[in-house]
Amino acid sequence: MFMNAYSFDTKLLHNKYKFDPATGGVSVPIQHASTFHQQSVSEFGKYDYSRSLNPTREALEEIIADLEGGCRGFAFSSGMAAISTAFLLLSHGDHIVITEDVYGGTFRMVTQVLNRFGIEHTFVDMTDLKAVEKAVQHNTALFYVETPSNPLLKVTDIEAVSSLAKKYGAYTFVDNTFMTPYLQKPLELGADLVLHSATKFLSGHSDTVAGLAVARDPELAERLYSLQNSFGAVLGVQDAWLVMRGIKTLSVRMKQAQDSAGRIARFLKDAPLIKEVFYPGLEDHPQFALQSKQAAGPGAVLSFELQNAELLDAFIEKVHLPVFAVSLGAVESILSYPAKMSHAAMPDQERRSLGISDGLLRLSVGLEHADDLIADFKQALEQMTTQKEGIL
Ligand SMILES: *Cc1c(COP(=O)(O)O)cnc(C)c1O
Repeated sequence: MFMNAYSFDTKLLHNKYKFDPATGGVSVPIQHASTFHQQSVSEFGKYDYSRSLNPTREALEEIIADLEGGCRGFAFSSGMAAISTAFLLLSHGDHIVITEDVYGGTFRMVTQVLNRFGIEHTFVDMTDLKAVEKAVQHNTALFYVETPSNPLLKVTDIEAVSSLAKKYGAYTFVDNTFMTPYLQKPLELGADLVLHSATKFLSGHSDTVAGLAVARDPELAERLYSLQNSFGAVLGVQDAWLVMRGIKTLSVRMKQAQDSAGRIARFLKDAPLIKEVFYPGLEDHPQFALQSKQAAGPGAVLSFELQNAELLDAFIEKVHLPVFAVSLGAVESILSYPAKMSHAAMPDQERRSLGISDGLLRLSVGLEHADDLIADFKQALEQMTTQKEGIL
């Protein structure tokens, strides 16, 4: 379809949509039309109605399919719309084996919605392949993977889980939001479907909510297309354009943010008042070797635990650079509090038992200079240490 000989960085810019064939415009035109004039009763054109197919959305769908190495891409109105539509590939009576520290919205979909339609699930620690196999039932139809996981950055072996899924005749879906195809290509490792919250690194500027899916084989793609059209949670054209613009700078943003994330993780590891740092780029991370093997890097998200939850308010108050917000994968660094934000849908006890403690913070590193970010964390922790000593 495209010039696949180009490197990833070049492909982000030089693809079929490099310029508009009608005008030469070096940007994909935004086609707002909801409906398209047809030449005759017997002859319908390629486009008829924008829920079914729209040229602007189609451009994004082809671009992401190419970057992920799949046969067809689909753009949805949010990451959850992509994930939920993909779950509709299942039927009443099916069973899902799903990673236990899955994104909070996916957790809610599985536990509060799919269960009402007779779709069962078992949560497992996907880093433990024996536990994954043990969770398989006669009706297991799907293995749902998110790696690295959120917020503890646990790494699942995509190739191993995919081959297990094949053995049991089930699908493997991978939420690739944290890595993007710049760092990880799940379809090449055997997965059937890749899912994205394009709200995060792909669009990258905290200004769009979008979701993407890419299927590996045409049969699954055809079924997903039918569901996209039936459910109708398609991405609007302005947002499709914003995601395409974001994708053009994906490599440089990921590279810069990842470099800084590594430096910050190493700084925090030795910093006072920090109990633990979770980042698959640290050599003592339990799946450091696996991450290095299946992905081209550890990404730009890390999490860390303060020595106790009482320090949390002071830390958030004293840190100035990152915005304190939900979401991740943006040009600005984002600090978030999983217990009250991404994982608020999870019952407290369950959340704590997964290791998502009340003192855990997640940092999505942006494009500020790493020195400035480190200096910011340093001054906050120093102030807190002084205050703590003052009390004692
Ligand atoms: C944000 C996120 C989602 C949900 O995407 P939305 O665009 O917010 O609907 C799903 N998975 C992961 C890993 C995410 O970070």
